[in-house]
Amino acid sequence: MSRPSNSSLGAHQRLGATFIDEDSIGLDAEEELDEALVAELSQRTPGFNGWQQERWFTHCNDAGEFIGKAGHAELLALGAEAMTAVQDATGLEDGPQWHTFFSAMDKDHGPTSYLFRCRHCSALGAYQDNH
Ligand SMILES: [Zn+2]
Repeated sequence: MSRPSNSSLGAHQRLGATFIDEDSIGLDAEEELDEALVAELSQRTPGFNGWQQERWFTHCNDAGEFIGKAGHAELLALGAEAMTAVQDATGLEDGPQWHTFFSAMDKDHGPTSYLFRCRHCSALGAYQDNH
């Protein structure tokens, strides 16, 4: 490639600020984010190095803002929209299975939900791990 002036800076940024597997970002396989956006996302989330999920919430053709990890107590505090976002992410119907999962969610010990907010329309999105 013919970008010698950028190579050292790029290497520095990668070492210093990229904690996210860039290939893992995207809600759906067919929804791709451009490189600049992925780079921005990686760099503006420096504290998010515990990320082990395979996905990043995207909405309105942009990467959502990471709000934080949440267990059932945090979701109760965040309200119905957050709970609905997590329930949608689990694919569970509103019933005993969902309530069991919801009760078991814990911010530190898992299963843990990861909440995001669209920076354009404020829609909430979520993923959860099942550990
Ligand atoms: Zn949106």
